[in-house]
Amino acid sequence: MNAGTSDGPAVGRQLVLAGGGHSHALVLRHWAIGRWRLPPTTAVTLVNRSSTSYYSGLIPAVLADQAHPGACVIDLRRLCTAAGVNFVQAEITGLDLKRQQLHLHNTLGRPSPALRSLRWDWLSLDVGSVTAAPAGVAGLPIRPLEPFLAWCDHLPPAVEVMGSGVAAVEVVLALAARCQRRQQPCRLSLRTAPGGLRLGTAALVRRLEQMVQAQGITICSMGRHDPASPHRTTVLCTGSRAPAWLRNGGLPCNPRGRILTHPTLVVQGHGRIFAAGDCGVVACAPRPAGGVWAVRAAPVLARNLQAALLGRPLQSWRPQVHGLVLLGDGHGAAVAQRGPLWLGPHPWLWRWKRHLDHRFMAMINDTTAMTAGSKQPMVCRGCAAKLPAQTLNSALGQIYGSLPQPQDAHTVARITPDQLLLASLDGFPALVSDPWLNGRLTTLHGASDLWASGACLDGLQVLVTLPRCSATLQQDLLMQCLSGVCATVQELGGVLLGGHSLQALADPDSHQPLALQLSLGVSVHGRVQTHRRWHKGPLRPGDVLVLSRPLGSGVIMAAAQANGAAPAWVDHALTLMGRPQQDLVQLLHHHGCRACTDVTGFGLLAHLGEMIQASPPDIQVQLDPLRIPAYDGALELLRAGHASTLAPHNASALELLAPQGVIQLRSRPSPVLRALLIDPQTCGPLLAAVPAHQATALLRAMAPSHPRSAVIGMVQRS
Ligand SMILES: Cc1cc2nc3c(=O)[nH]c(=O)nc-3n(C[C@H](O)[C@H](O)[C@H](O)COP(=O)(O)OP(=O)(O)OC[C@H]3O[C@@H](n4cnc5c(N)ncnc54)[C@H](O)[C@@H]3O)c2cc1C
Repeated sequence: MNAGTSDGPAVGRQLVLAGGGHSHALVLRHWAIGRWRLPPTTAVTLVNRSSTSYYSGLIPAVLADQAHPGACVIDLRRLCTAAGVNFVQAEITGLDLKRQQLHLHNTLGRPSPALRSLRWDWLSLDVGSVTAAPAGVAGLPIRPLEPFLAWCDHLPPAVEVMGSGVAAVEVVLALAARCQRRQQPCRLSLRTAPGGLRLGTAALVRRLEQMVQAQGITICSMGRHDPASPHRTTVLCTGSRAPAWLRNGGLPCNPRGRILTHPTLVVQGHGRIFAAGDCGVVACAPRPAGGVWAVRAAPVLARNLQAALLGRPLQSWRPQVHGLVLLGDGHGAAVAQRGPLWLGPHPWLWRWKRHLDHRFMAMINDTTAMTAGSKQPMVCRGCAAKLPAQTLNSALGQIYGSLPQPQDAHTVARITPDQLLLASLDGFPALVSDPWLNGRLTTLHGASDLWASGACLDGLQVLVTLPRCSATLQQDLLMQCLSGVCATVQELGGVLLGGHSLQALADPDSHQPLALQLSLGVSVHGRVQTHRRWHKGPLRPGDVLVLSRPLGSGVIMAAAQANGAAPAWVDHALTLMGRPQQDLVQLLHHHGCRACTDVTGFGLLAHLGEMIQASPPDIQVQLDPLRIPAYDGALELLRAGHASTLAPHNASALELLAPQGVIQLRSRPSPVLRALLIDPQTCGPLLAAVPAHQATALLRAMAPSHPRSAVIGMVQRS
């Protein structure tokens, strides 16, 4: 999607897809299967507040406990990878039409979310809608869906669903079914607008009222006194409006804040902006907000984005007048409605709905049908892109004769008699296609060499290699990447001193997201008092080994590239990886740390081996494999055969586990646990040796910011 060729024009324009709603998810799929393609001179970025989006048709079944929550999840990160599109996880908080920028607020579990902006040449909006709450009514809005679904896991004893449309009826019926299935007592009521339900025909209203009342749900209308209402939680299903920042940004909107478009989906008066789904409305053929129209708009949007970027004429779309509504009763039957016609409830209508929903989900998640992926063999990124230890060691051996003692950071100078200046260098090809996040992760990864040596970050320099593309796009990539570095360096109390930039010699791979083709290296320095400087050893008998965070980032990111990782697993890993560990320097000092290292590309075993190598020859470590924490999903992925491409090279470290080896295992590890021990880590844990009597207090002190830290072994004499 992104590349230029040496003969053709460079990648020069940036199309930003704002929101990963139904229309954009389907557009991504169209691109991934090659049905429509953007010119290779266009770089594309999707921004969404989470890495997943929900297929609305299945939400009632999830609420009713008839479907697993994962059944309605659309994996946006995976779709982006398949389509060669950059993925940025952030909340869009506004837009600046003059500067052609979106304002973003990072949402990936960062303790101090940073503000940033993203420039577009072309923009397409599919950010859905939010609940339109009646004035003066407080309650829990059904949209956005994420907080509402989380709330449903712990329903209060009384719930009132407020609304007069299909959604309110379907939600109250689904909640009733959920409570019955879970045998959870909950008094449910439906509060409608003053004239009752508004569903088109009186006969349908009567039928649905009967269905609601048959579940023991009381129906009342707004304004009628209900003595119990102050103690209930009110769920607002009171219609929708588009997010306010669209109108506030200056786009033309209808009274519900929906952006007015031409039949081509181009926004009125803004030839380079498109809108689809609930947030937009075709001004000359207005339809209510609904997933049906968001889905139907997708092929039109895909075709017209392609045509617009190629300078070809756009096609007009006339949305269908009525959408088919299939309303589940929560108990295996459904009512069908299309305009004034309706039917049911019938079990076969429910089966039909389930068939349509499952067909949609199978289609959107079937990446095997997606052909746009590069035919290059998968090579891991991040720290898993490092040279194998053997290659490195044999080259170093030729230079030095014998191998120098490995160090996490090197002493560059003695600043005062008791203060040292330490420096280190690290970097890798982009791990994620969000340049901001990649800047943060690389900075944290680089700084961890200082932390492992007892120092904090003072200053940092960068070396960025950008893909070949237009100067404007390179500027965008550089700005995003450096903003991520800068924000993180500032958070750590250091300064970005400077750096260098290069551009790749070869043209970018048109099947890969452009931002994934960036490489970043950082050189870091920091001060430490001489007596507080740690080395990898010596380990002392009686010390315990503390690991500060889980292992498994290598296999998770490898599986993500191969479309095998659940979105929640990738989110969880990236969230923990994106947390600084600088606070550990003080905590470990306070608890008598004697030696430390950080676990990176060669995996836990090899890095532990270096600690033992820096210790007296009679030292042995007893490792407890069952106590080694793993990222959510890491063991499942290893069991399923996923592995980082560097892992096989790390396997030589398994020799350390030989019967008379320097690492003894407290229990026989399964093949999966052995694989975890050699998994390469990006932003990996610190591995510290502290006196055994300090372990409990240390873990207690680490728990608030490093809840997955654990004592994984003990040092003893062999
Ligand atoms: C309970 C319920 C049941 C429904 N059932 C049906 C049904 O059966 N059939 C039907 O046709 N319709 C149904 N709908 C309506 C349907 O959900 C919406 O019309 C549909 O989801 C709209 O799709 P969309 O593409 O506009 O956006 P959405 O699917 O809502 O997606 C918008 C995306 O944008 C993201 N986003 C939003 N704001 C921001 C921001 N500021 N920054 C970053 N990202 C952002 C969101 O995270 C989301 O991923 C139902 C709605 C509800 C509440």
